[in-house]
Amino acid sequence: MPNIQLSHVCKRYDQGAQFAVKALDLTIAAGEFMCLLGPSGCGKSTTLRMIAGLEHASSGEIRLGERIVDSVQAGRFIAAEKRNLGLVFQSYALWPHLTVAQNIEFGLKLRKIPRAEHEQILLSVMTTLGIAVYRDRYPSQLSGGQQQRVALARTLAVNPQILLLDEPLSNLDARLRLEMRTELKRIHQQYGTTMLFVTHDQWEAMALATRIAVMKDGELQQVGTPHEIYARPANRFVAEFVGTPPINIIELAQHSLVTELLFPYLRSLGGDMAQIAAVGIRPERIQVGPGNSANEPRPLQLKARLESVLPTGGSWILEVSVAGQRLLLNTQNVPAYREGDLLNLTIAADDLHLFDSHGERRELPVSGETIQTLAHNPFRYQE
Ligand code: ADP
Repeated sequence: MPNIQLSHVCKRYDQGAQFAVKALDLTIAAGEFMCLLGPSGCGKSTTLRMIAGLEHASSGEIRLGERIVDSVQAGRFIAAEKRNLGLVFQSYALWPHLTVAQNIEFGLKLRKIPRAEHEQILLSVMTTLGIAVYRDRYPSQLSGGQQQRVALARTLAVNPQILLLDEPLSNLDARLRLEMRTELKRIHQQYGTTMLFVTHDQWEAMALATRIAVMKDGELQQVGTPHEIYARPANRFVAEFVGTPPINIIELAQHSLVTELLFPYLRSLGGDMAQIAAVGIRPERIQVGPGNSANEPRPLQLKARLESVLPTGGSWILEVSVAGQRLLLNTQNVPAYREGDLLNLTIAADDLHLFDSHGERRELPVSGETIQTLAHNPFRYQE
């Protein structure tokens, strides 16, 4: 399977218009399942369409494997149908007057695959996608999920080396979406195809991707495994875009008892306070009570008032206030406390995300060893 390489790719739809994609450097490894994630209008579809050959890049170079498929500088543009890739969009675009089997076969005919091979290919992809029983039905006799499976089967039938999917599950209801995600993962494992999947849904990206590329305003923000994106966001945008409920952000410029506590705390861990403008804490990383922090180096401890409890089915969102600073917590344990109660909160030093005034991530320069010497010496704030 080929990899996909974008070098300094820019796209402007019109002269003078904003960049839809700006200086994008991204390599999608052969056999990888990469998700392009970001809010609407950030340039995800444009990127996918340039790789597909449905749009020309304004500058930069796109390679599929060793082959340059788009480069203004080299005067080269390979047409979409010659790029050997499969495309699946949000709309299924099935022929309404053709049956399931005929729809899938249509692609085989277009690619001039010998007729003698059709039945075997048909059976194989229809079985993979669990649609063999519908082979003689028309699209109007199928649910949205089944139609999307047919669209996927039609694409897989021609055995593309690269599969590009643009929000293919957005038209499906929640249960079907979940089912199709599992299916896509299985197909990826079975075929080993290089996959690029565009979505604005962070959960979808987290569930599917081997790596995620986060975009904003046409610019790449971070590329990493789902865990890296979640646990070490490169900037505030990524930190706030990924995670539900969203990450708590404490602005250090806004003076409060919490920031008064955070200054000496972070300084004691070697933080350069002139560089740190905000601290982020994920709701699920705040523990009620001592938590597991007995083994953690120098945790931060806060006393907070419980303002409200929101059950979400299986977990609870707690809204607390620490001397006026509102924080959200997420807990899997049935809360044994009531609104108005005072709670002891514990946060490990590792779970504080530090950002500078440009929103870029900053690390504490402390070695693990230094932190260990500070162990069991928590910072406390008592109300
Ligand atoms: P996303 O897929 O992340 O929602 P798009 O790639 O569709 O974002 O769009 C990126 C930017 O390019 C947006 O500002 C959008 O309005 C603009 N854009 C997309 N397609 C066209 C087009 N055909 N003509 C002009 N501008 C476009």
